[in-house]
Amino acid sequence: MENCIFCKIVAGEIPCVKIYEDDLVFAFLDIGPINFGHTLVIPKEHHQSSSTIPEATAGRMFHVGSRIGVALRRALDYDGFNLHLADGSCAGQVVMHAHLHVVPRGCEDGFRWNWRQLEYAGTADRTETAEKIIAKLKLD
Ligand code: AMP
Ligand code: ZN
Repeated sequence: MENCIFCKIVAGEIPCVKIYEDDLVFAFLDIGPINFGHTLVIPKEHHQSSSTIPEATAGRMFHVGSRIGVALRRALDYDGFNLHLADGSCAGQVVMHAHLHVVPRGCEDGFRWNWRQLEYAGTADRTETAEKIIAKLKLD
């Protein structure tokens, strides 16, 4: 994909600090890390949305991402990691080539996700919400 910064990184046209590469995925250090070692795992093929990535590649991204999380823990003495993927600009996606963030975490790292917990109006509301989702769920 022309003018995609991550496609250019895969092609070697823009420098990066590479962590891992195979036939399907590529992983490199995020240039503006939440914590040092923060890594991005991307499909080599251009996909804007995670939803169009073929299952084998998406599975590889998760597999590689979680193993990099373990390597971060062991190599840099972290306590755990977050896997994060923003799909769509409203969700915080800035680079429009799908990518999985592997964010190493320390118990005392001072970083907090801005997480909120709404409440459903009741059981019927919750069930109705689930029914709408299930009606639109396609796994092909
Ligand atoms: P997102 O907000 O999920 O789209 O995340 C995009 C991420 O890409 C950010 O965390 C950036 O720091 C990172 N990023 C942007 N350009 C580069 C680059 N040239 N090399 C490495 N990471 C980058
Ligand atoms: Zn791309």
